[in-house]
Amino acid sequence: MNTPISSAIVPGPVRNWLENLSKGNLGSINVLAGESETFDVMDPGTASPLTSLPVSSEEVVGTAVRNARRAFEGGSWRNESPDQRERVLLKLADLVERDFQFLSVVEALDTGKPLEEAKFDIEEVATVLRYYAGWSNKVSGQTIATPFELSAMTIKGPVGVCAAITPWNYPLPILMYKLAPALAFGNSFVAKPSELAPLSAIYFAQLCEEAGVPEGVVNIVLGAGATGSALASNPDLDKIAFTGSSRTGQAIMTAAAKNTTKVTLELGGKSPQVVFASSNLAKSVEGVARGIWTNAGQVCVAGSRLIVEKSIKTEFLNELERFTNSYFVGHSLDSRSTMGPIISMAQQEKIRGVLDGAVSDGAELHEYGRVSDVAGFFQRPTVIDGLSSSHSTHQEEIFGPVITVSTFESEAEAIELANSTRYGLAAGIWTGQAGQGHRVAKSITSGTVWINTYGTFHPTLPFGGTKSSGFGRELGESAIDAYTELKTVVEDISE
Ligand code: ADP
Repeated sequence: MNTPISSAIVPGPVRNWLENLSKGNLGSINVLAGESETFDVMDPGTASPLTSLPVSSEEVVGTAVRNARRAFEGGSWRNESPDQRERVLLKLADLVERDFQFLSVVEALDTGKPLEEAKFDIEEVATVLRYYAGWSNKVSGQTIATPFELSAMTIKGPVGVCAAITPWNYPLPILMYKLAPALAFGNSFVAKPSELAPLSAIYFAQLCEEAGVPEGVVNIVLGAGATGSALASNPDLDKIAFTGSSRTGQAIMTAAAKNTTKVTLELGGKSPQVVFASSNLAKSVEGVARGIWTNAGQVCVAGSRLIVEKSIKTEFLNELERFTNSYFVGHSLDSRSTMGPIISMAQQEKIRGVLDGAVSDGAELHEYGRVSDVAGFFQRPTVIDGLSSSHSTHQEEIFGPVITVSTFESEAEAIELANSTRYGLAAGIWTGQAGQGHRVAKSITSGTVWINTYGTFHPTLPFGGTKSSGFGRELGESAIDAYTELKTVVEDISE
């Protein structure tokens, strides 16, 4: 029998805000609501609704894009001095910190992740805002030597109206990877957060108003695939940045192609964790465990394929079991929880289906840790052993706390296994041998390689994928190219 979790554990201000949302008070002119249809936003840790929200129809999406276009052409933001844009972004970061507790609870309830993980995410949001605030007035072009009597230079201006379609696993950080550089360089913006976790984006829209982002520059639309599709197909966008599944990424790319809209896509992954026998076992076990169990494995860079040197396989798996048995899978606001639920019942059922299929194909399944008896969509950390590296569990993204195991006997074999999927987002290498990490990193096809660490993000570090994991880079200096347009200006200086 499941124990119901009381809504009383939700702090009063958050409860009031959620109630207001369900009455249609979205709190900011930056959020463009629809009129009739609504959708429920669930707490995946209780399998019950937190609130309900209006769906933004195609017409509303059109209004959002027009608002953004009007604001862009009107110049209230793009022609604002870069110093002032910096000030506004810094203010936004301050407001995120002022409302840190509130935002962390909202993000935890909406995604199901333990509150401590949500706090880490909200801290990251403020860090990303400050990082791009600093770039606002530091981007410039080049002067170019030509063989003619010409003065030639490049300048960098905003791209225009940028759209973001974002997922539910890191709702506000992933939105910020796009919104912070877009604002820093003078773009206007339309965002559609995931229908599974849209709450922090709605709250953030309010902070944008308070920080002094001019009207029409930031617009939020709500809803699921149909709203996203209406946005991706809008002919008046200059750019779409998407993070989500490879399947949806392809649909967005197809829609964008019809209007020649630029896209950057950060898609799925099936990232390898290559562990050499020379590695520090305690460190590699913890790194591999955190690399897959964090956010219940619902992470695009989840290190979901353990590729371990054969001589240490048994010892490594024993240590992984010992480490993982300390996990408690439960509600986001239950202080015992070190892992939250799966985001939805559909996704939980999909994962169970994959695990059942693996067993019927001969896998040994090991499920570790303890699980809460409340009615959430829980899945314990799971190791799949005994299947070949060509099996679908090694090839397809599962998006849950599930890791496959394969072994190697030489460095070349490890590299071959690491590269043996269609994805190329991230990889981990655990080694105690000098030079080996960088040598292997050069041979792994992926956007990021972590050596003796895993899942380390910072606004200074460019992030993105290759192969079926997408293209384009976010964060770091790379985002300057993603959110500015290079213009060449040439003047005849002959008499
Ligand atoms: P996930 O499986 O991680 O939820 P999706 O790719 O389905 O990933 O969703 C990521 C984002 O894309 C969400 O905001 C979702 O609403 C949106 N989305 C889903 N289908 C479409 C579509 N056909 N066109 C545009 N956006 C979509």
